[in-house]
Amino acid sequence: MLKEEVEIDGVEEIKISPAGNVILPISRKLVLTELTERTCKWPIGDPMKDDFHFCGCESADTSPYCSYHAKMAYQPVGERRKAANSAAR
Ligand SMILES: [Zn+2]
Repeated sequence: MLKEEVEIDGVEEIKISPAGNVILPISRKLVLTELTERTCKWPIGDPMKDDFHFCGCESADTSPYCSYHAKMAYQPVGERRKAANSAAR
């Protein structure tokens, strides 16, 4: 029902269609030490558990997250966290 367009340049493995209409980037399942400034730092899973990892997809220069997670991160839901915004670059 929900159609979402995601712009992806230079990525060729987009033939996987997950069940449903959720467009989720293919997680690289990176651990903290594998993150770089060009990887999405969106945490996935429970930090207390073994399978916790980071998205690891390519992130934009201006964001610590990939385009998908950047959308989630910057939803208006964050209104209550205004204090944190002033600290964010
Ligand atoms: Zn991501």
